Amino acid sequence: MCILCAKGTPQQHITSRRSFLKGTAATGAAATALGLFGTQAAATDDGPPRDTGRHGRRYVIRNGYVMTMEPGTTGQDSPFGEFIEGDVLVEGKTIKAIGKNLHVGNAAEIDARGKVVMPGFIDTHHHQAWTPIRSSIPDSILINDGTGTASADQNYAVNVLGFLAPGQGFANHYTPEDVYIGELFGGLSQLDAGVTTVLDISQIHHSPDHTAEAIRALRHTGRRAMLGFFEGAGNAGPTTHYPANAASVAGSLSGDDLVGFVMGGEVYLGEPIYTPAWEFARGNGFLIAAHILSPFFIRPILDDLAAGTGGSGNNIGIRDDNLFIHMTGMSNEAWQEVHDRGAKVSIAFPIEMNMRHGIPPILKMQSFNDPAFEPSLSTDVETNMTADFFTQMRSAMTMQRMVVNQAVLDSGDPSTNPWPPGPGLPPNQDLPPLLNARDVLRYATINGAKHLRLDSKTGSLKVNKEADIIILDGTHLNVFPMNNVPGAVVTLMERTNVETVIVAGKVRKWKGRLLDVDLSRLRPRLAASRARLYAAVKRVPNPFPNK
Ligand SMILES: [Zn+2]
Repeated sequence: MCILCAKGTPQQHITSRRSFLKGTAATGAAATALGLFGTQAAATDDGPPRDTGRHGRRYVIRNGYVMTMEPGTTGQDSPFGEFIEGDVLVEGKTIKAIGKNLHVGNAAEIDARGKVVMPGFIDTHHHQAWTPIRSSIPDSILINDGTGTASADQNYAVNVLGFLAPGQGFANHYTPEDVYIGELFGGLSQLDAGVTTVLDISQIHHSPDHTAEAIRALRHTGRRAMLGFFEGAGNAGPTTHYPANAASVAGSLSGDDLVGFVMGGEVYLGEPIYTPAWEFARGNGFLIAAHILSPFFIRPILDDLAAGTGGSGNNIGIRDDNLFIHMTGMSNEAWQEVHDRGAKVSIAFPIEMNMRHGIPPILKMQSFNDPAFEPSLSTDVETNMTADFFTQMRSAMTMQRMVVNQAVLDSGDPSTNPWPPGPGLPPNQDLPPLLNARDVLRYATINGAKHLRLDSKTGSLKVNKEADIIILDGTHLNVFPMNNVPGAVVTLMERTNVETVIVAGKVRKWKGRLLDVDLSRLRPRLAASRARLYAAVKRVPNPFPNK
């Protein structure tokens, strides 16, 4: 049976792909999952170079606007590691050279004139399993506030997590198949949009079968991923699976080239659950990810951890192995400890603003005046907002600038709004600098790699790193002419500009089309999952609800 379409054989599927690919030939030599037709295209005029990502195969991306995200790269045209008409040479899965007019022998060429060549985006917090219930609660806040509004009725805590309402949340009813198709479709969606690495916060580990399907989907997606091993959302208490099976789950991922392990350690589940989770991670050198926000009574728990008295034994503290998501509404003392210990912070700007988490804490982070203390970006939940990274970057930039700009206006005479704000005062006194395009590009790439401990492999374009590269088309109607490349990427581009996506040297999207994927086969499975989940919570799918 073909793993992609769940019927027929891989050979039949390959045959249909041949006609679909029009002029390119899939060999089917590696008919594994979605990376199935591993060898992709023959050398045709409109196909990608042959056998990309395979050992020894070489190609050069030629004459692009290259943004390495590595300041100080030899030969750069700006202090930020950027090149006008730069080349990137890839061999196998590795970047071999970056520069201008590279001599590459007989390597195949990808023409990137007029296009941006940069590292793929890195999402440090995404609940991919929720893809079947995308946009099901677009107006919701986190918790029902009793107002009877659409925002209250759709609240995330009950409708998705079944929080204090067993059986009412979609999450309560997920089958392993729902996990698989949700994770796969959501992952492919982000791959198509240029997000080449994800931390999947899969709070859906009800059973070993659920976990196995999440891992299978991450592998079939064919991009870099960290499995976040979290609880099964909606379960009232500890299960025999989470966190007890952490060692076997982590073990099943050891040696995997693209999929790794992060321990979920939600503190709001209580000390009896989070203590063994954190202890397992610390005993075995894994990252610990946790949602930290003032709703769900988390602020005093983080204070306890900041004091070094967290957990059942009153001896757990914050360390540099913590990745804290949101960090809205936390105390100054906890922030100081997070900073001083080198813990990482992932901010979900649009979600936090929409769902009443609190103001995204970017100004709080800037107040430490420490360039090493910057966030990575979180897309969070597609039940409420797109997982696209252009939206992430624009939200981060506009939110921060809104606050700072208003503070500048408020500090002056409202009748004239002079800058600087008062006699003898410099502008923006006591205010952090406005974020600019390069700042949020850094958040979206190298910061994410550092936060996931993947920066030796990805997050920037650098010799000997793996080739996780996106090529963004700057000739489109929406961006041409590109007068400022970082600015054009952040302020003008969107998914349709993502022309080519490369993961570990392998071309996964080529000239606007995702390769090795037949969506006409996957959509019915996702639709069936949606139908099953809506029926389970006794909701009738209605594309135009009454409120
Ligand atoms: Zn989340």
